[in-house]
This record gives sequence, C-alpha cells and structure tokens, in this order.
Amino acid sequence: MSYLITDIRTYVVQVPLASTWQTSLYKSNATRGHAIVEVTTEGGVKGYGEASPSAAFMGETADTIKFMNDTYLAPLLRGKDIRNIGTIHQLMDSSIYGMYSAKATIDIAVHDALAKTLDQPLYAIIGGLLNEKIPLTYVIGMTSDDRIFKEVEEAVEFSYEVIKIKVGSDWEKEAAIINKVCAFIQRKGLHTRVRLDANQGFTVDDAIRFAGRLTHKGLIDAFEQPVQKRNVSGLLEVKRYSGLPIMADESVFNLADAADVFERKAVHLLNIKLGKVGGIYPAKKIAAAAEAHGIPCTVGSNLELGIGIAANMHFVASTKNAVVPHDLFAGHMLHKRDIVDDSLKRHLQDGYLSVPDGAGLGVRLNEDWKN
Ligand SMILES: [Mg+2]
Repeated sequence: MSYLITDIRTYVVQVPLASTWQTSLYKSNATRGHAIVEVTTEGGVKGYGEASPSAAFMGETADTIKFMNDTYLAPLLRGKDIRNIGTIHQLMDSSIYGMYSAKATIDIAVHDALAKTLDQPLYAIIGGLLNEKIPLTYVIGMTSDDRIFKEVEEAVEFSYEVIKIKVGSDWEKEAAIINKVCAFIQRKGLHTRVRLDANQGFTVDDAIRFAGRLTHKGLIDAFEQPVQKRNVSGLLEVKRYSGLPIMADESVFNLADAADVFERKAVHLLNIKLGKVGGIYPAKKIAAAAEAHGIPCTVGSNLELGIGIAANMHFVASTKNAVVPHDLFAGHMLHKRDIVDDSLKRHLQDGYLSVPDGAGLGVRLNEDWKN
C-alpha cells in the first residue's frame, strides 16, 4: 500500500445558479466557479476536494485557487505522505499565508485519498460517528417579501429546523418582514426557528435597533455576523444589547481569530466553513477551541457542490459540538446541476442528512464532471 502523492491537479468547473443569489456582501446571478482538486497517490487512489469561494467573502476565487495550487502548493506536496496531514499543512502554511480555500481543496482531497486507501468512510478517520443525523437550515437570500414567504412555506413543508434569512441592508424593512415570518410560524404552531445572517452589513447601532424591533425574539436561533468582521468589540456590544444569540462567521478565518473572539466572549455560537478555515484539519482545531469555551458550532456553506458538501457532512458527523443546524446543503439546492450523482440526495430526508458510509467522501462524481 502506498501513501505517497504523485499528482495534484486543480480544475475549475463553472456551474450556473438556478436563480439570483444575494447577500449584503454580494449578488450573483450568473455561473459560479468551483475549484475541484484531484490528488493521486502512488497506489492509484484518487481523492477529491472542493472549494467554491465568493470573492467578496473569501478574497479567493476558483481561478485564484487553481493558480495557488498549481504554482505554490502542488509542487511542494508531490512525493509527500497522505498520512501526514499536519506536515502537509505546515508545508502549505510556510509556502504562502492565508489562501484558506486553496488549502482546503487539498486538505479535503488528501483526507478523501487516505480514507479510500484505508477503505473507510472519512468520518471514521477524523473522530468517528458522533452526530448521525445532521439537521439543516433552509437558506433564503435577499429577495422580495413575496419570494421570502414562498420559500418559508416550502421550508416548513420539508420540516427544516431552522430557516436562515439574509439581512443586513435596510433594518426597518427587514425587521418588518422577519416579524411577519415569525408570526406565520407561531400561527401554524411550528417548531421552526429563524436565523438572521447580516454578513457584516449592519453598523452596531443599526444591529441593535433591528434586534429591538423584532417581536418574536424567542424564535430567533441566531443573529449571524451582524457587524464588520474585524469589529469584535462591536460583536460584543450587539451581544450585550440585542438580546439575541450572536454567531460569528466572517470574524473567524483561523484558530487565532477564534481564540480572540472566544476570549473576548464576543459570541454565543460559531459558523465554521471548511473552505474558510483551510479544510478539515484546521476546522477540527477551531471546533475544539470552541468546545473549550462552551460554544456550539454550525457548518456553513460557500455554496459548494457535492464534493464540498460531502466533506462538510463527514466533518459534522465526527465533531462533538457541530450541532447547530447547518447550511451545508445550500449549494446543491441553488445550482442548476451538481458534479456528483444523485446518490447524495438519498442522504437527505425531511431537512436532515445522514452521512455516507462508503469509502472516503462516499459520493460518486458524474462521468462528465469536468464540463
Ligand atoms: Mg454567514
């Protein structure tokens, strides 16, 4: 059995969105680029990784990932042993700072290759099965009030535990629609909760005013990244005065960010994204730091397709405090097609996912996935 890497190739796959996607950070209505990495070992095993960053969020794109991987990361890692994931990260980090999405594609592909070589599902080599049933959020971008309601009705029909709605532009108008959504949920006697993600769009004052206007605070599962990512004291202020559970997302790209936010007691909850933090290995460290501070985590989405989604599923399944309903299926729902076959969908039932138990990521790429 050989564990040595012989080749690392990065492909950019363009997939159209099914409709316009908008957050307070950016708007996209065309195609989105997904960077797919294929790691080949001397034993002939192929592992796959994916990241699909939004430039305004991550500072990376599928094209920059391909450039980083081809120019800096892949040449360093040929001949290296896939069992030594810590060494692989040390080499990547000493070669180039940041570039977390690029590093995540390689991290995920190496994990997939190792699990396939060992003929084990990925979750089995990163902590084992802790969370068998993965609760999902239903994610609604910034859109018209009518469309929000239509989507809320759909989310309710499929029993999603949490409906996540993007806010962060016009706090008065947004508070009014959120109040209507909550009143609808209450009227129907549902257990659904609502998460509000501002993607850094509010000032501290507006975030507190927005929260003050909400009429059903008990239904709000989290107020995610209300203010600018570097404004940790602002997060703390919103936490103090909004009366809502505060979740960090853009404020935490790495372990040092996480330590800072946790030590300052700025949040109740954390959104970890594999593509944001550099892959499974750093995500495990961040989740452990969160656990030490009593902070439950959710796993978010950069609208990945099936490879990235499967990696997220294995991470959640094997991470003790990754228990807050997750956005991780959003990319599959929002794109016109996926690069993996329909077997992924078989793991979705009524707003919950079960983790695949085939070797590696446990999903199959379509024959024509590169097109
Ligand atoms: Mg977010």
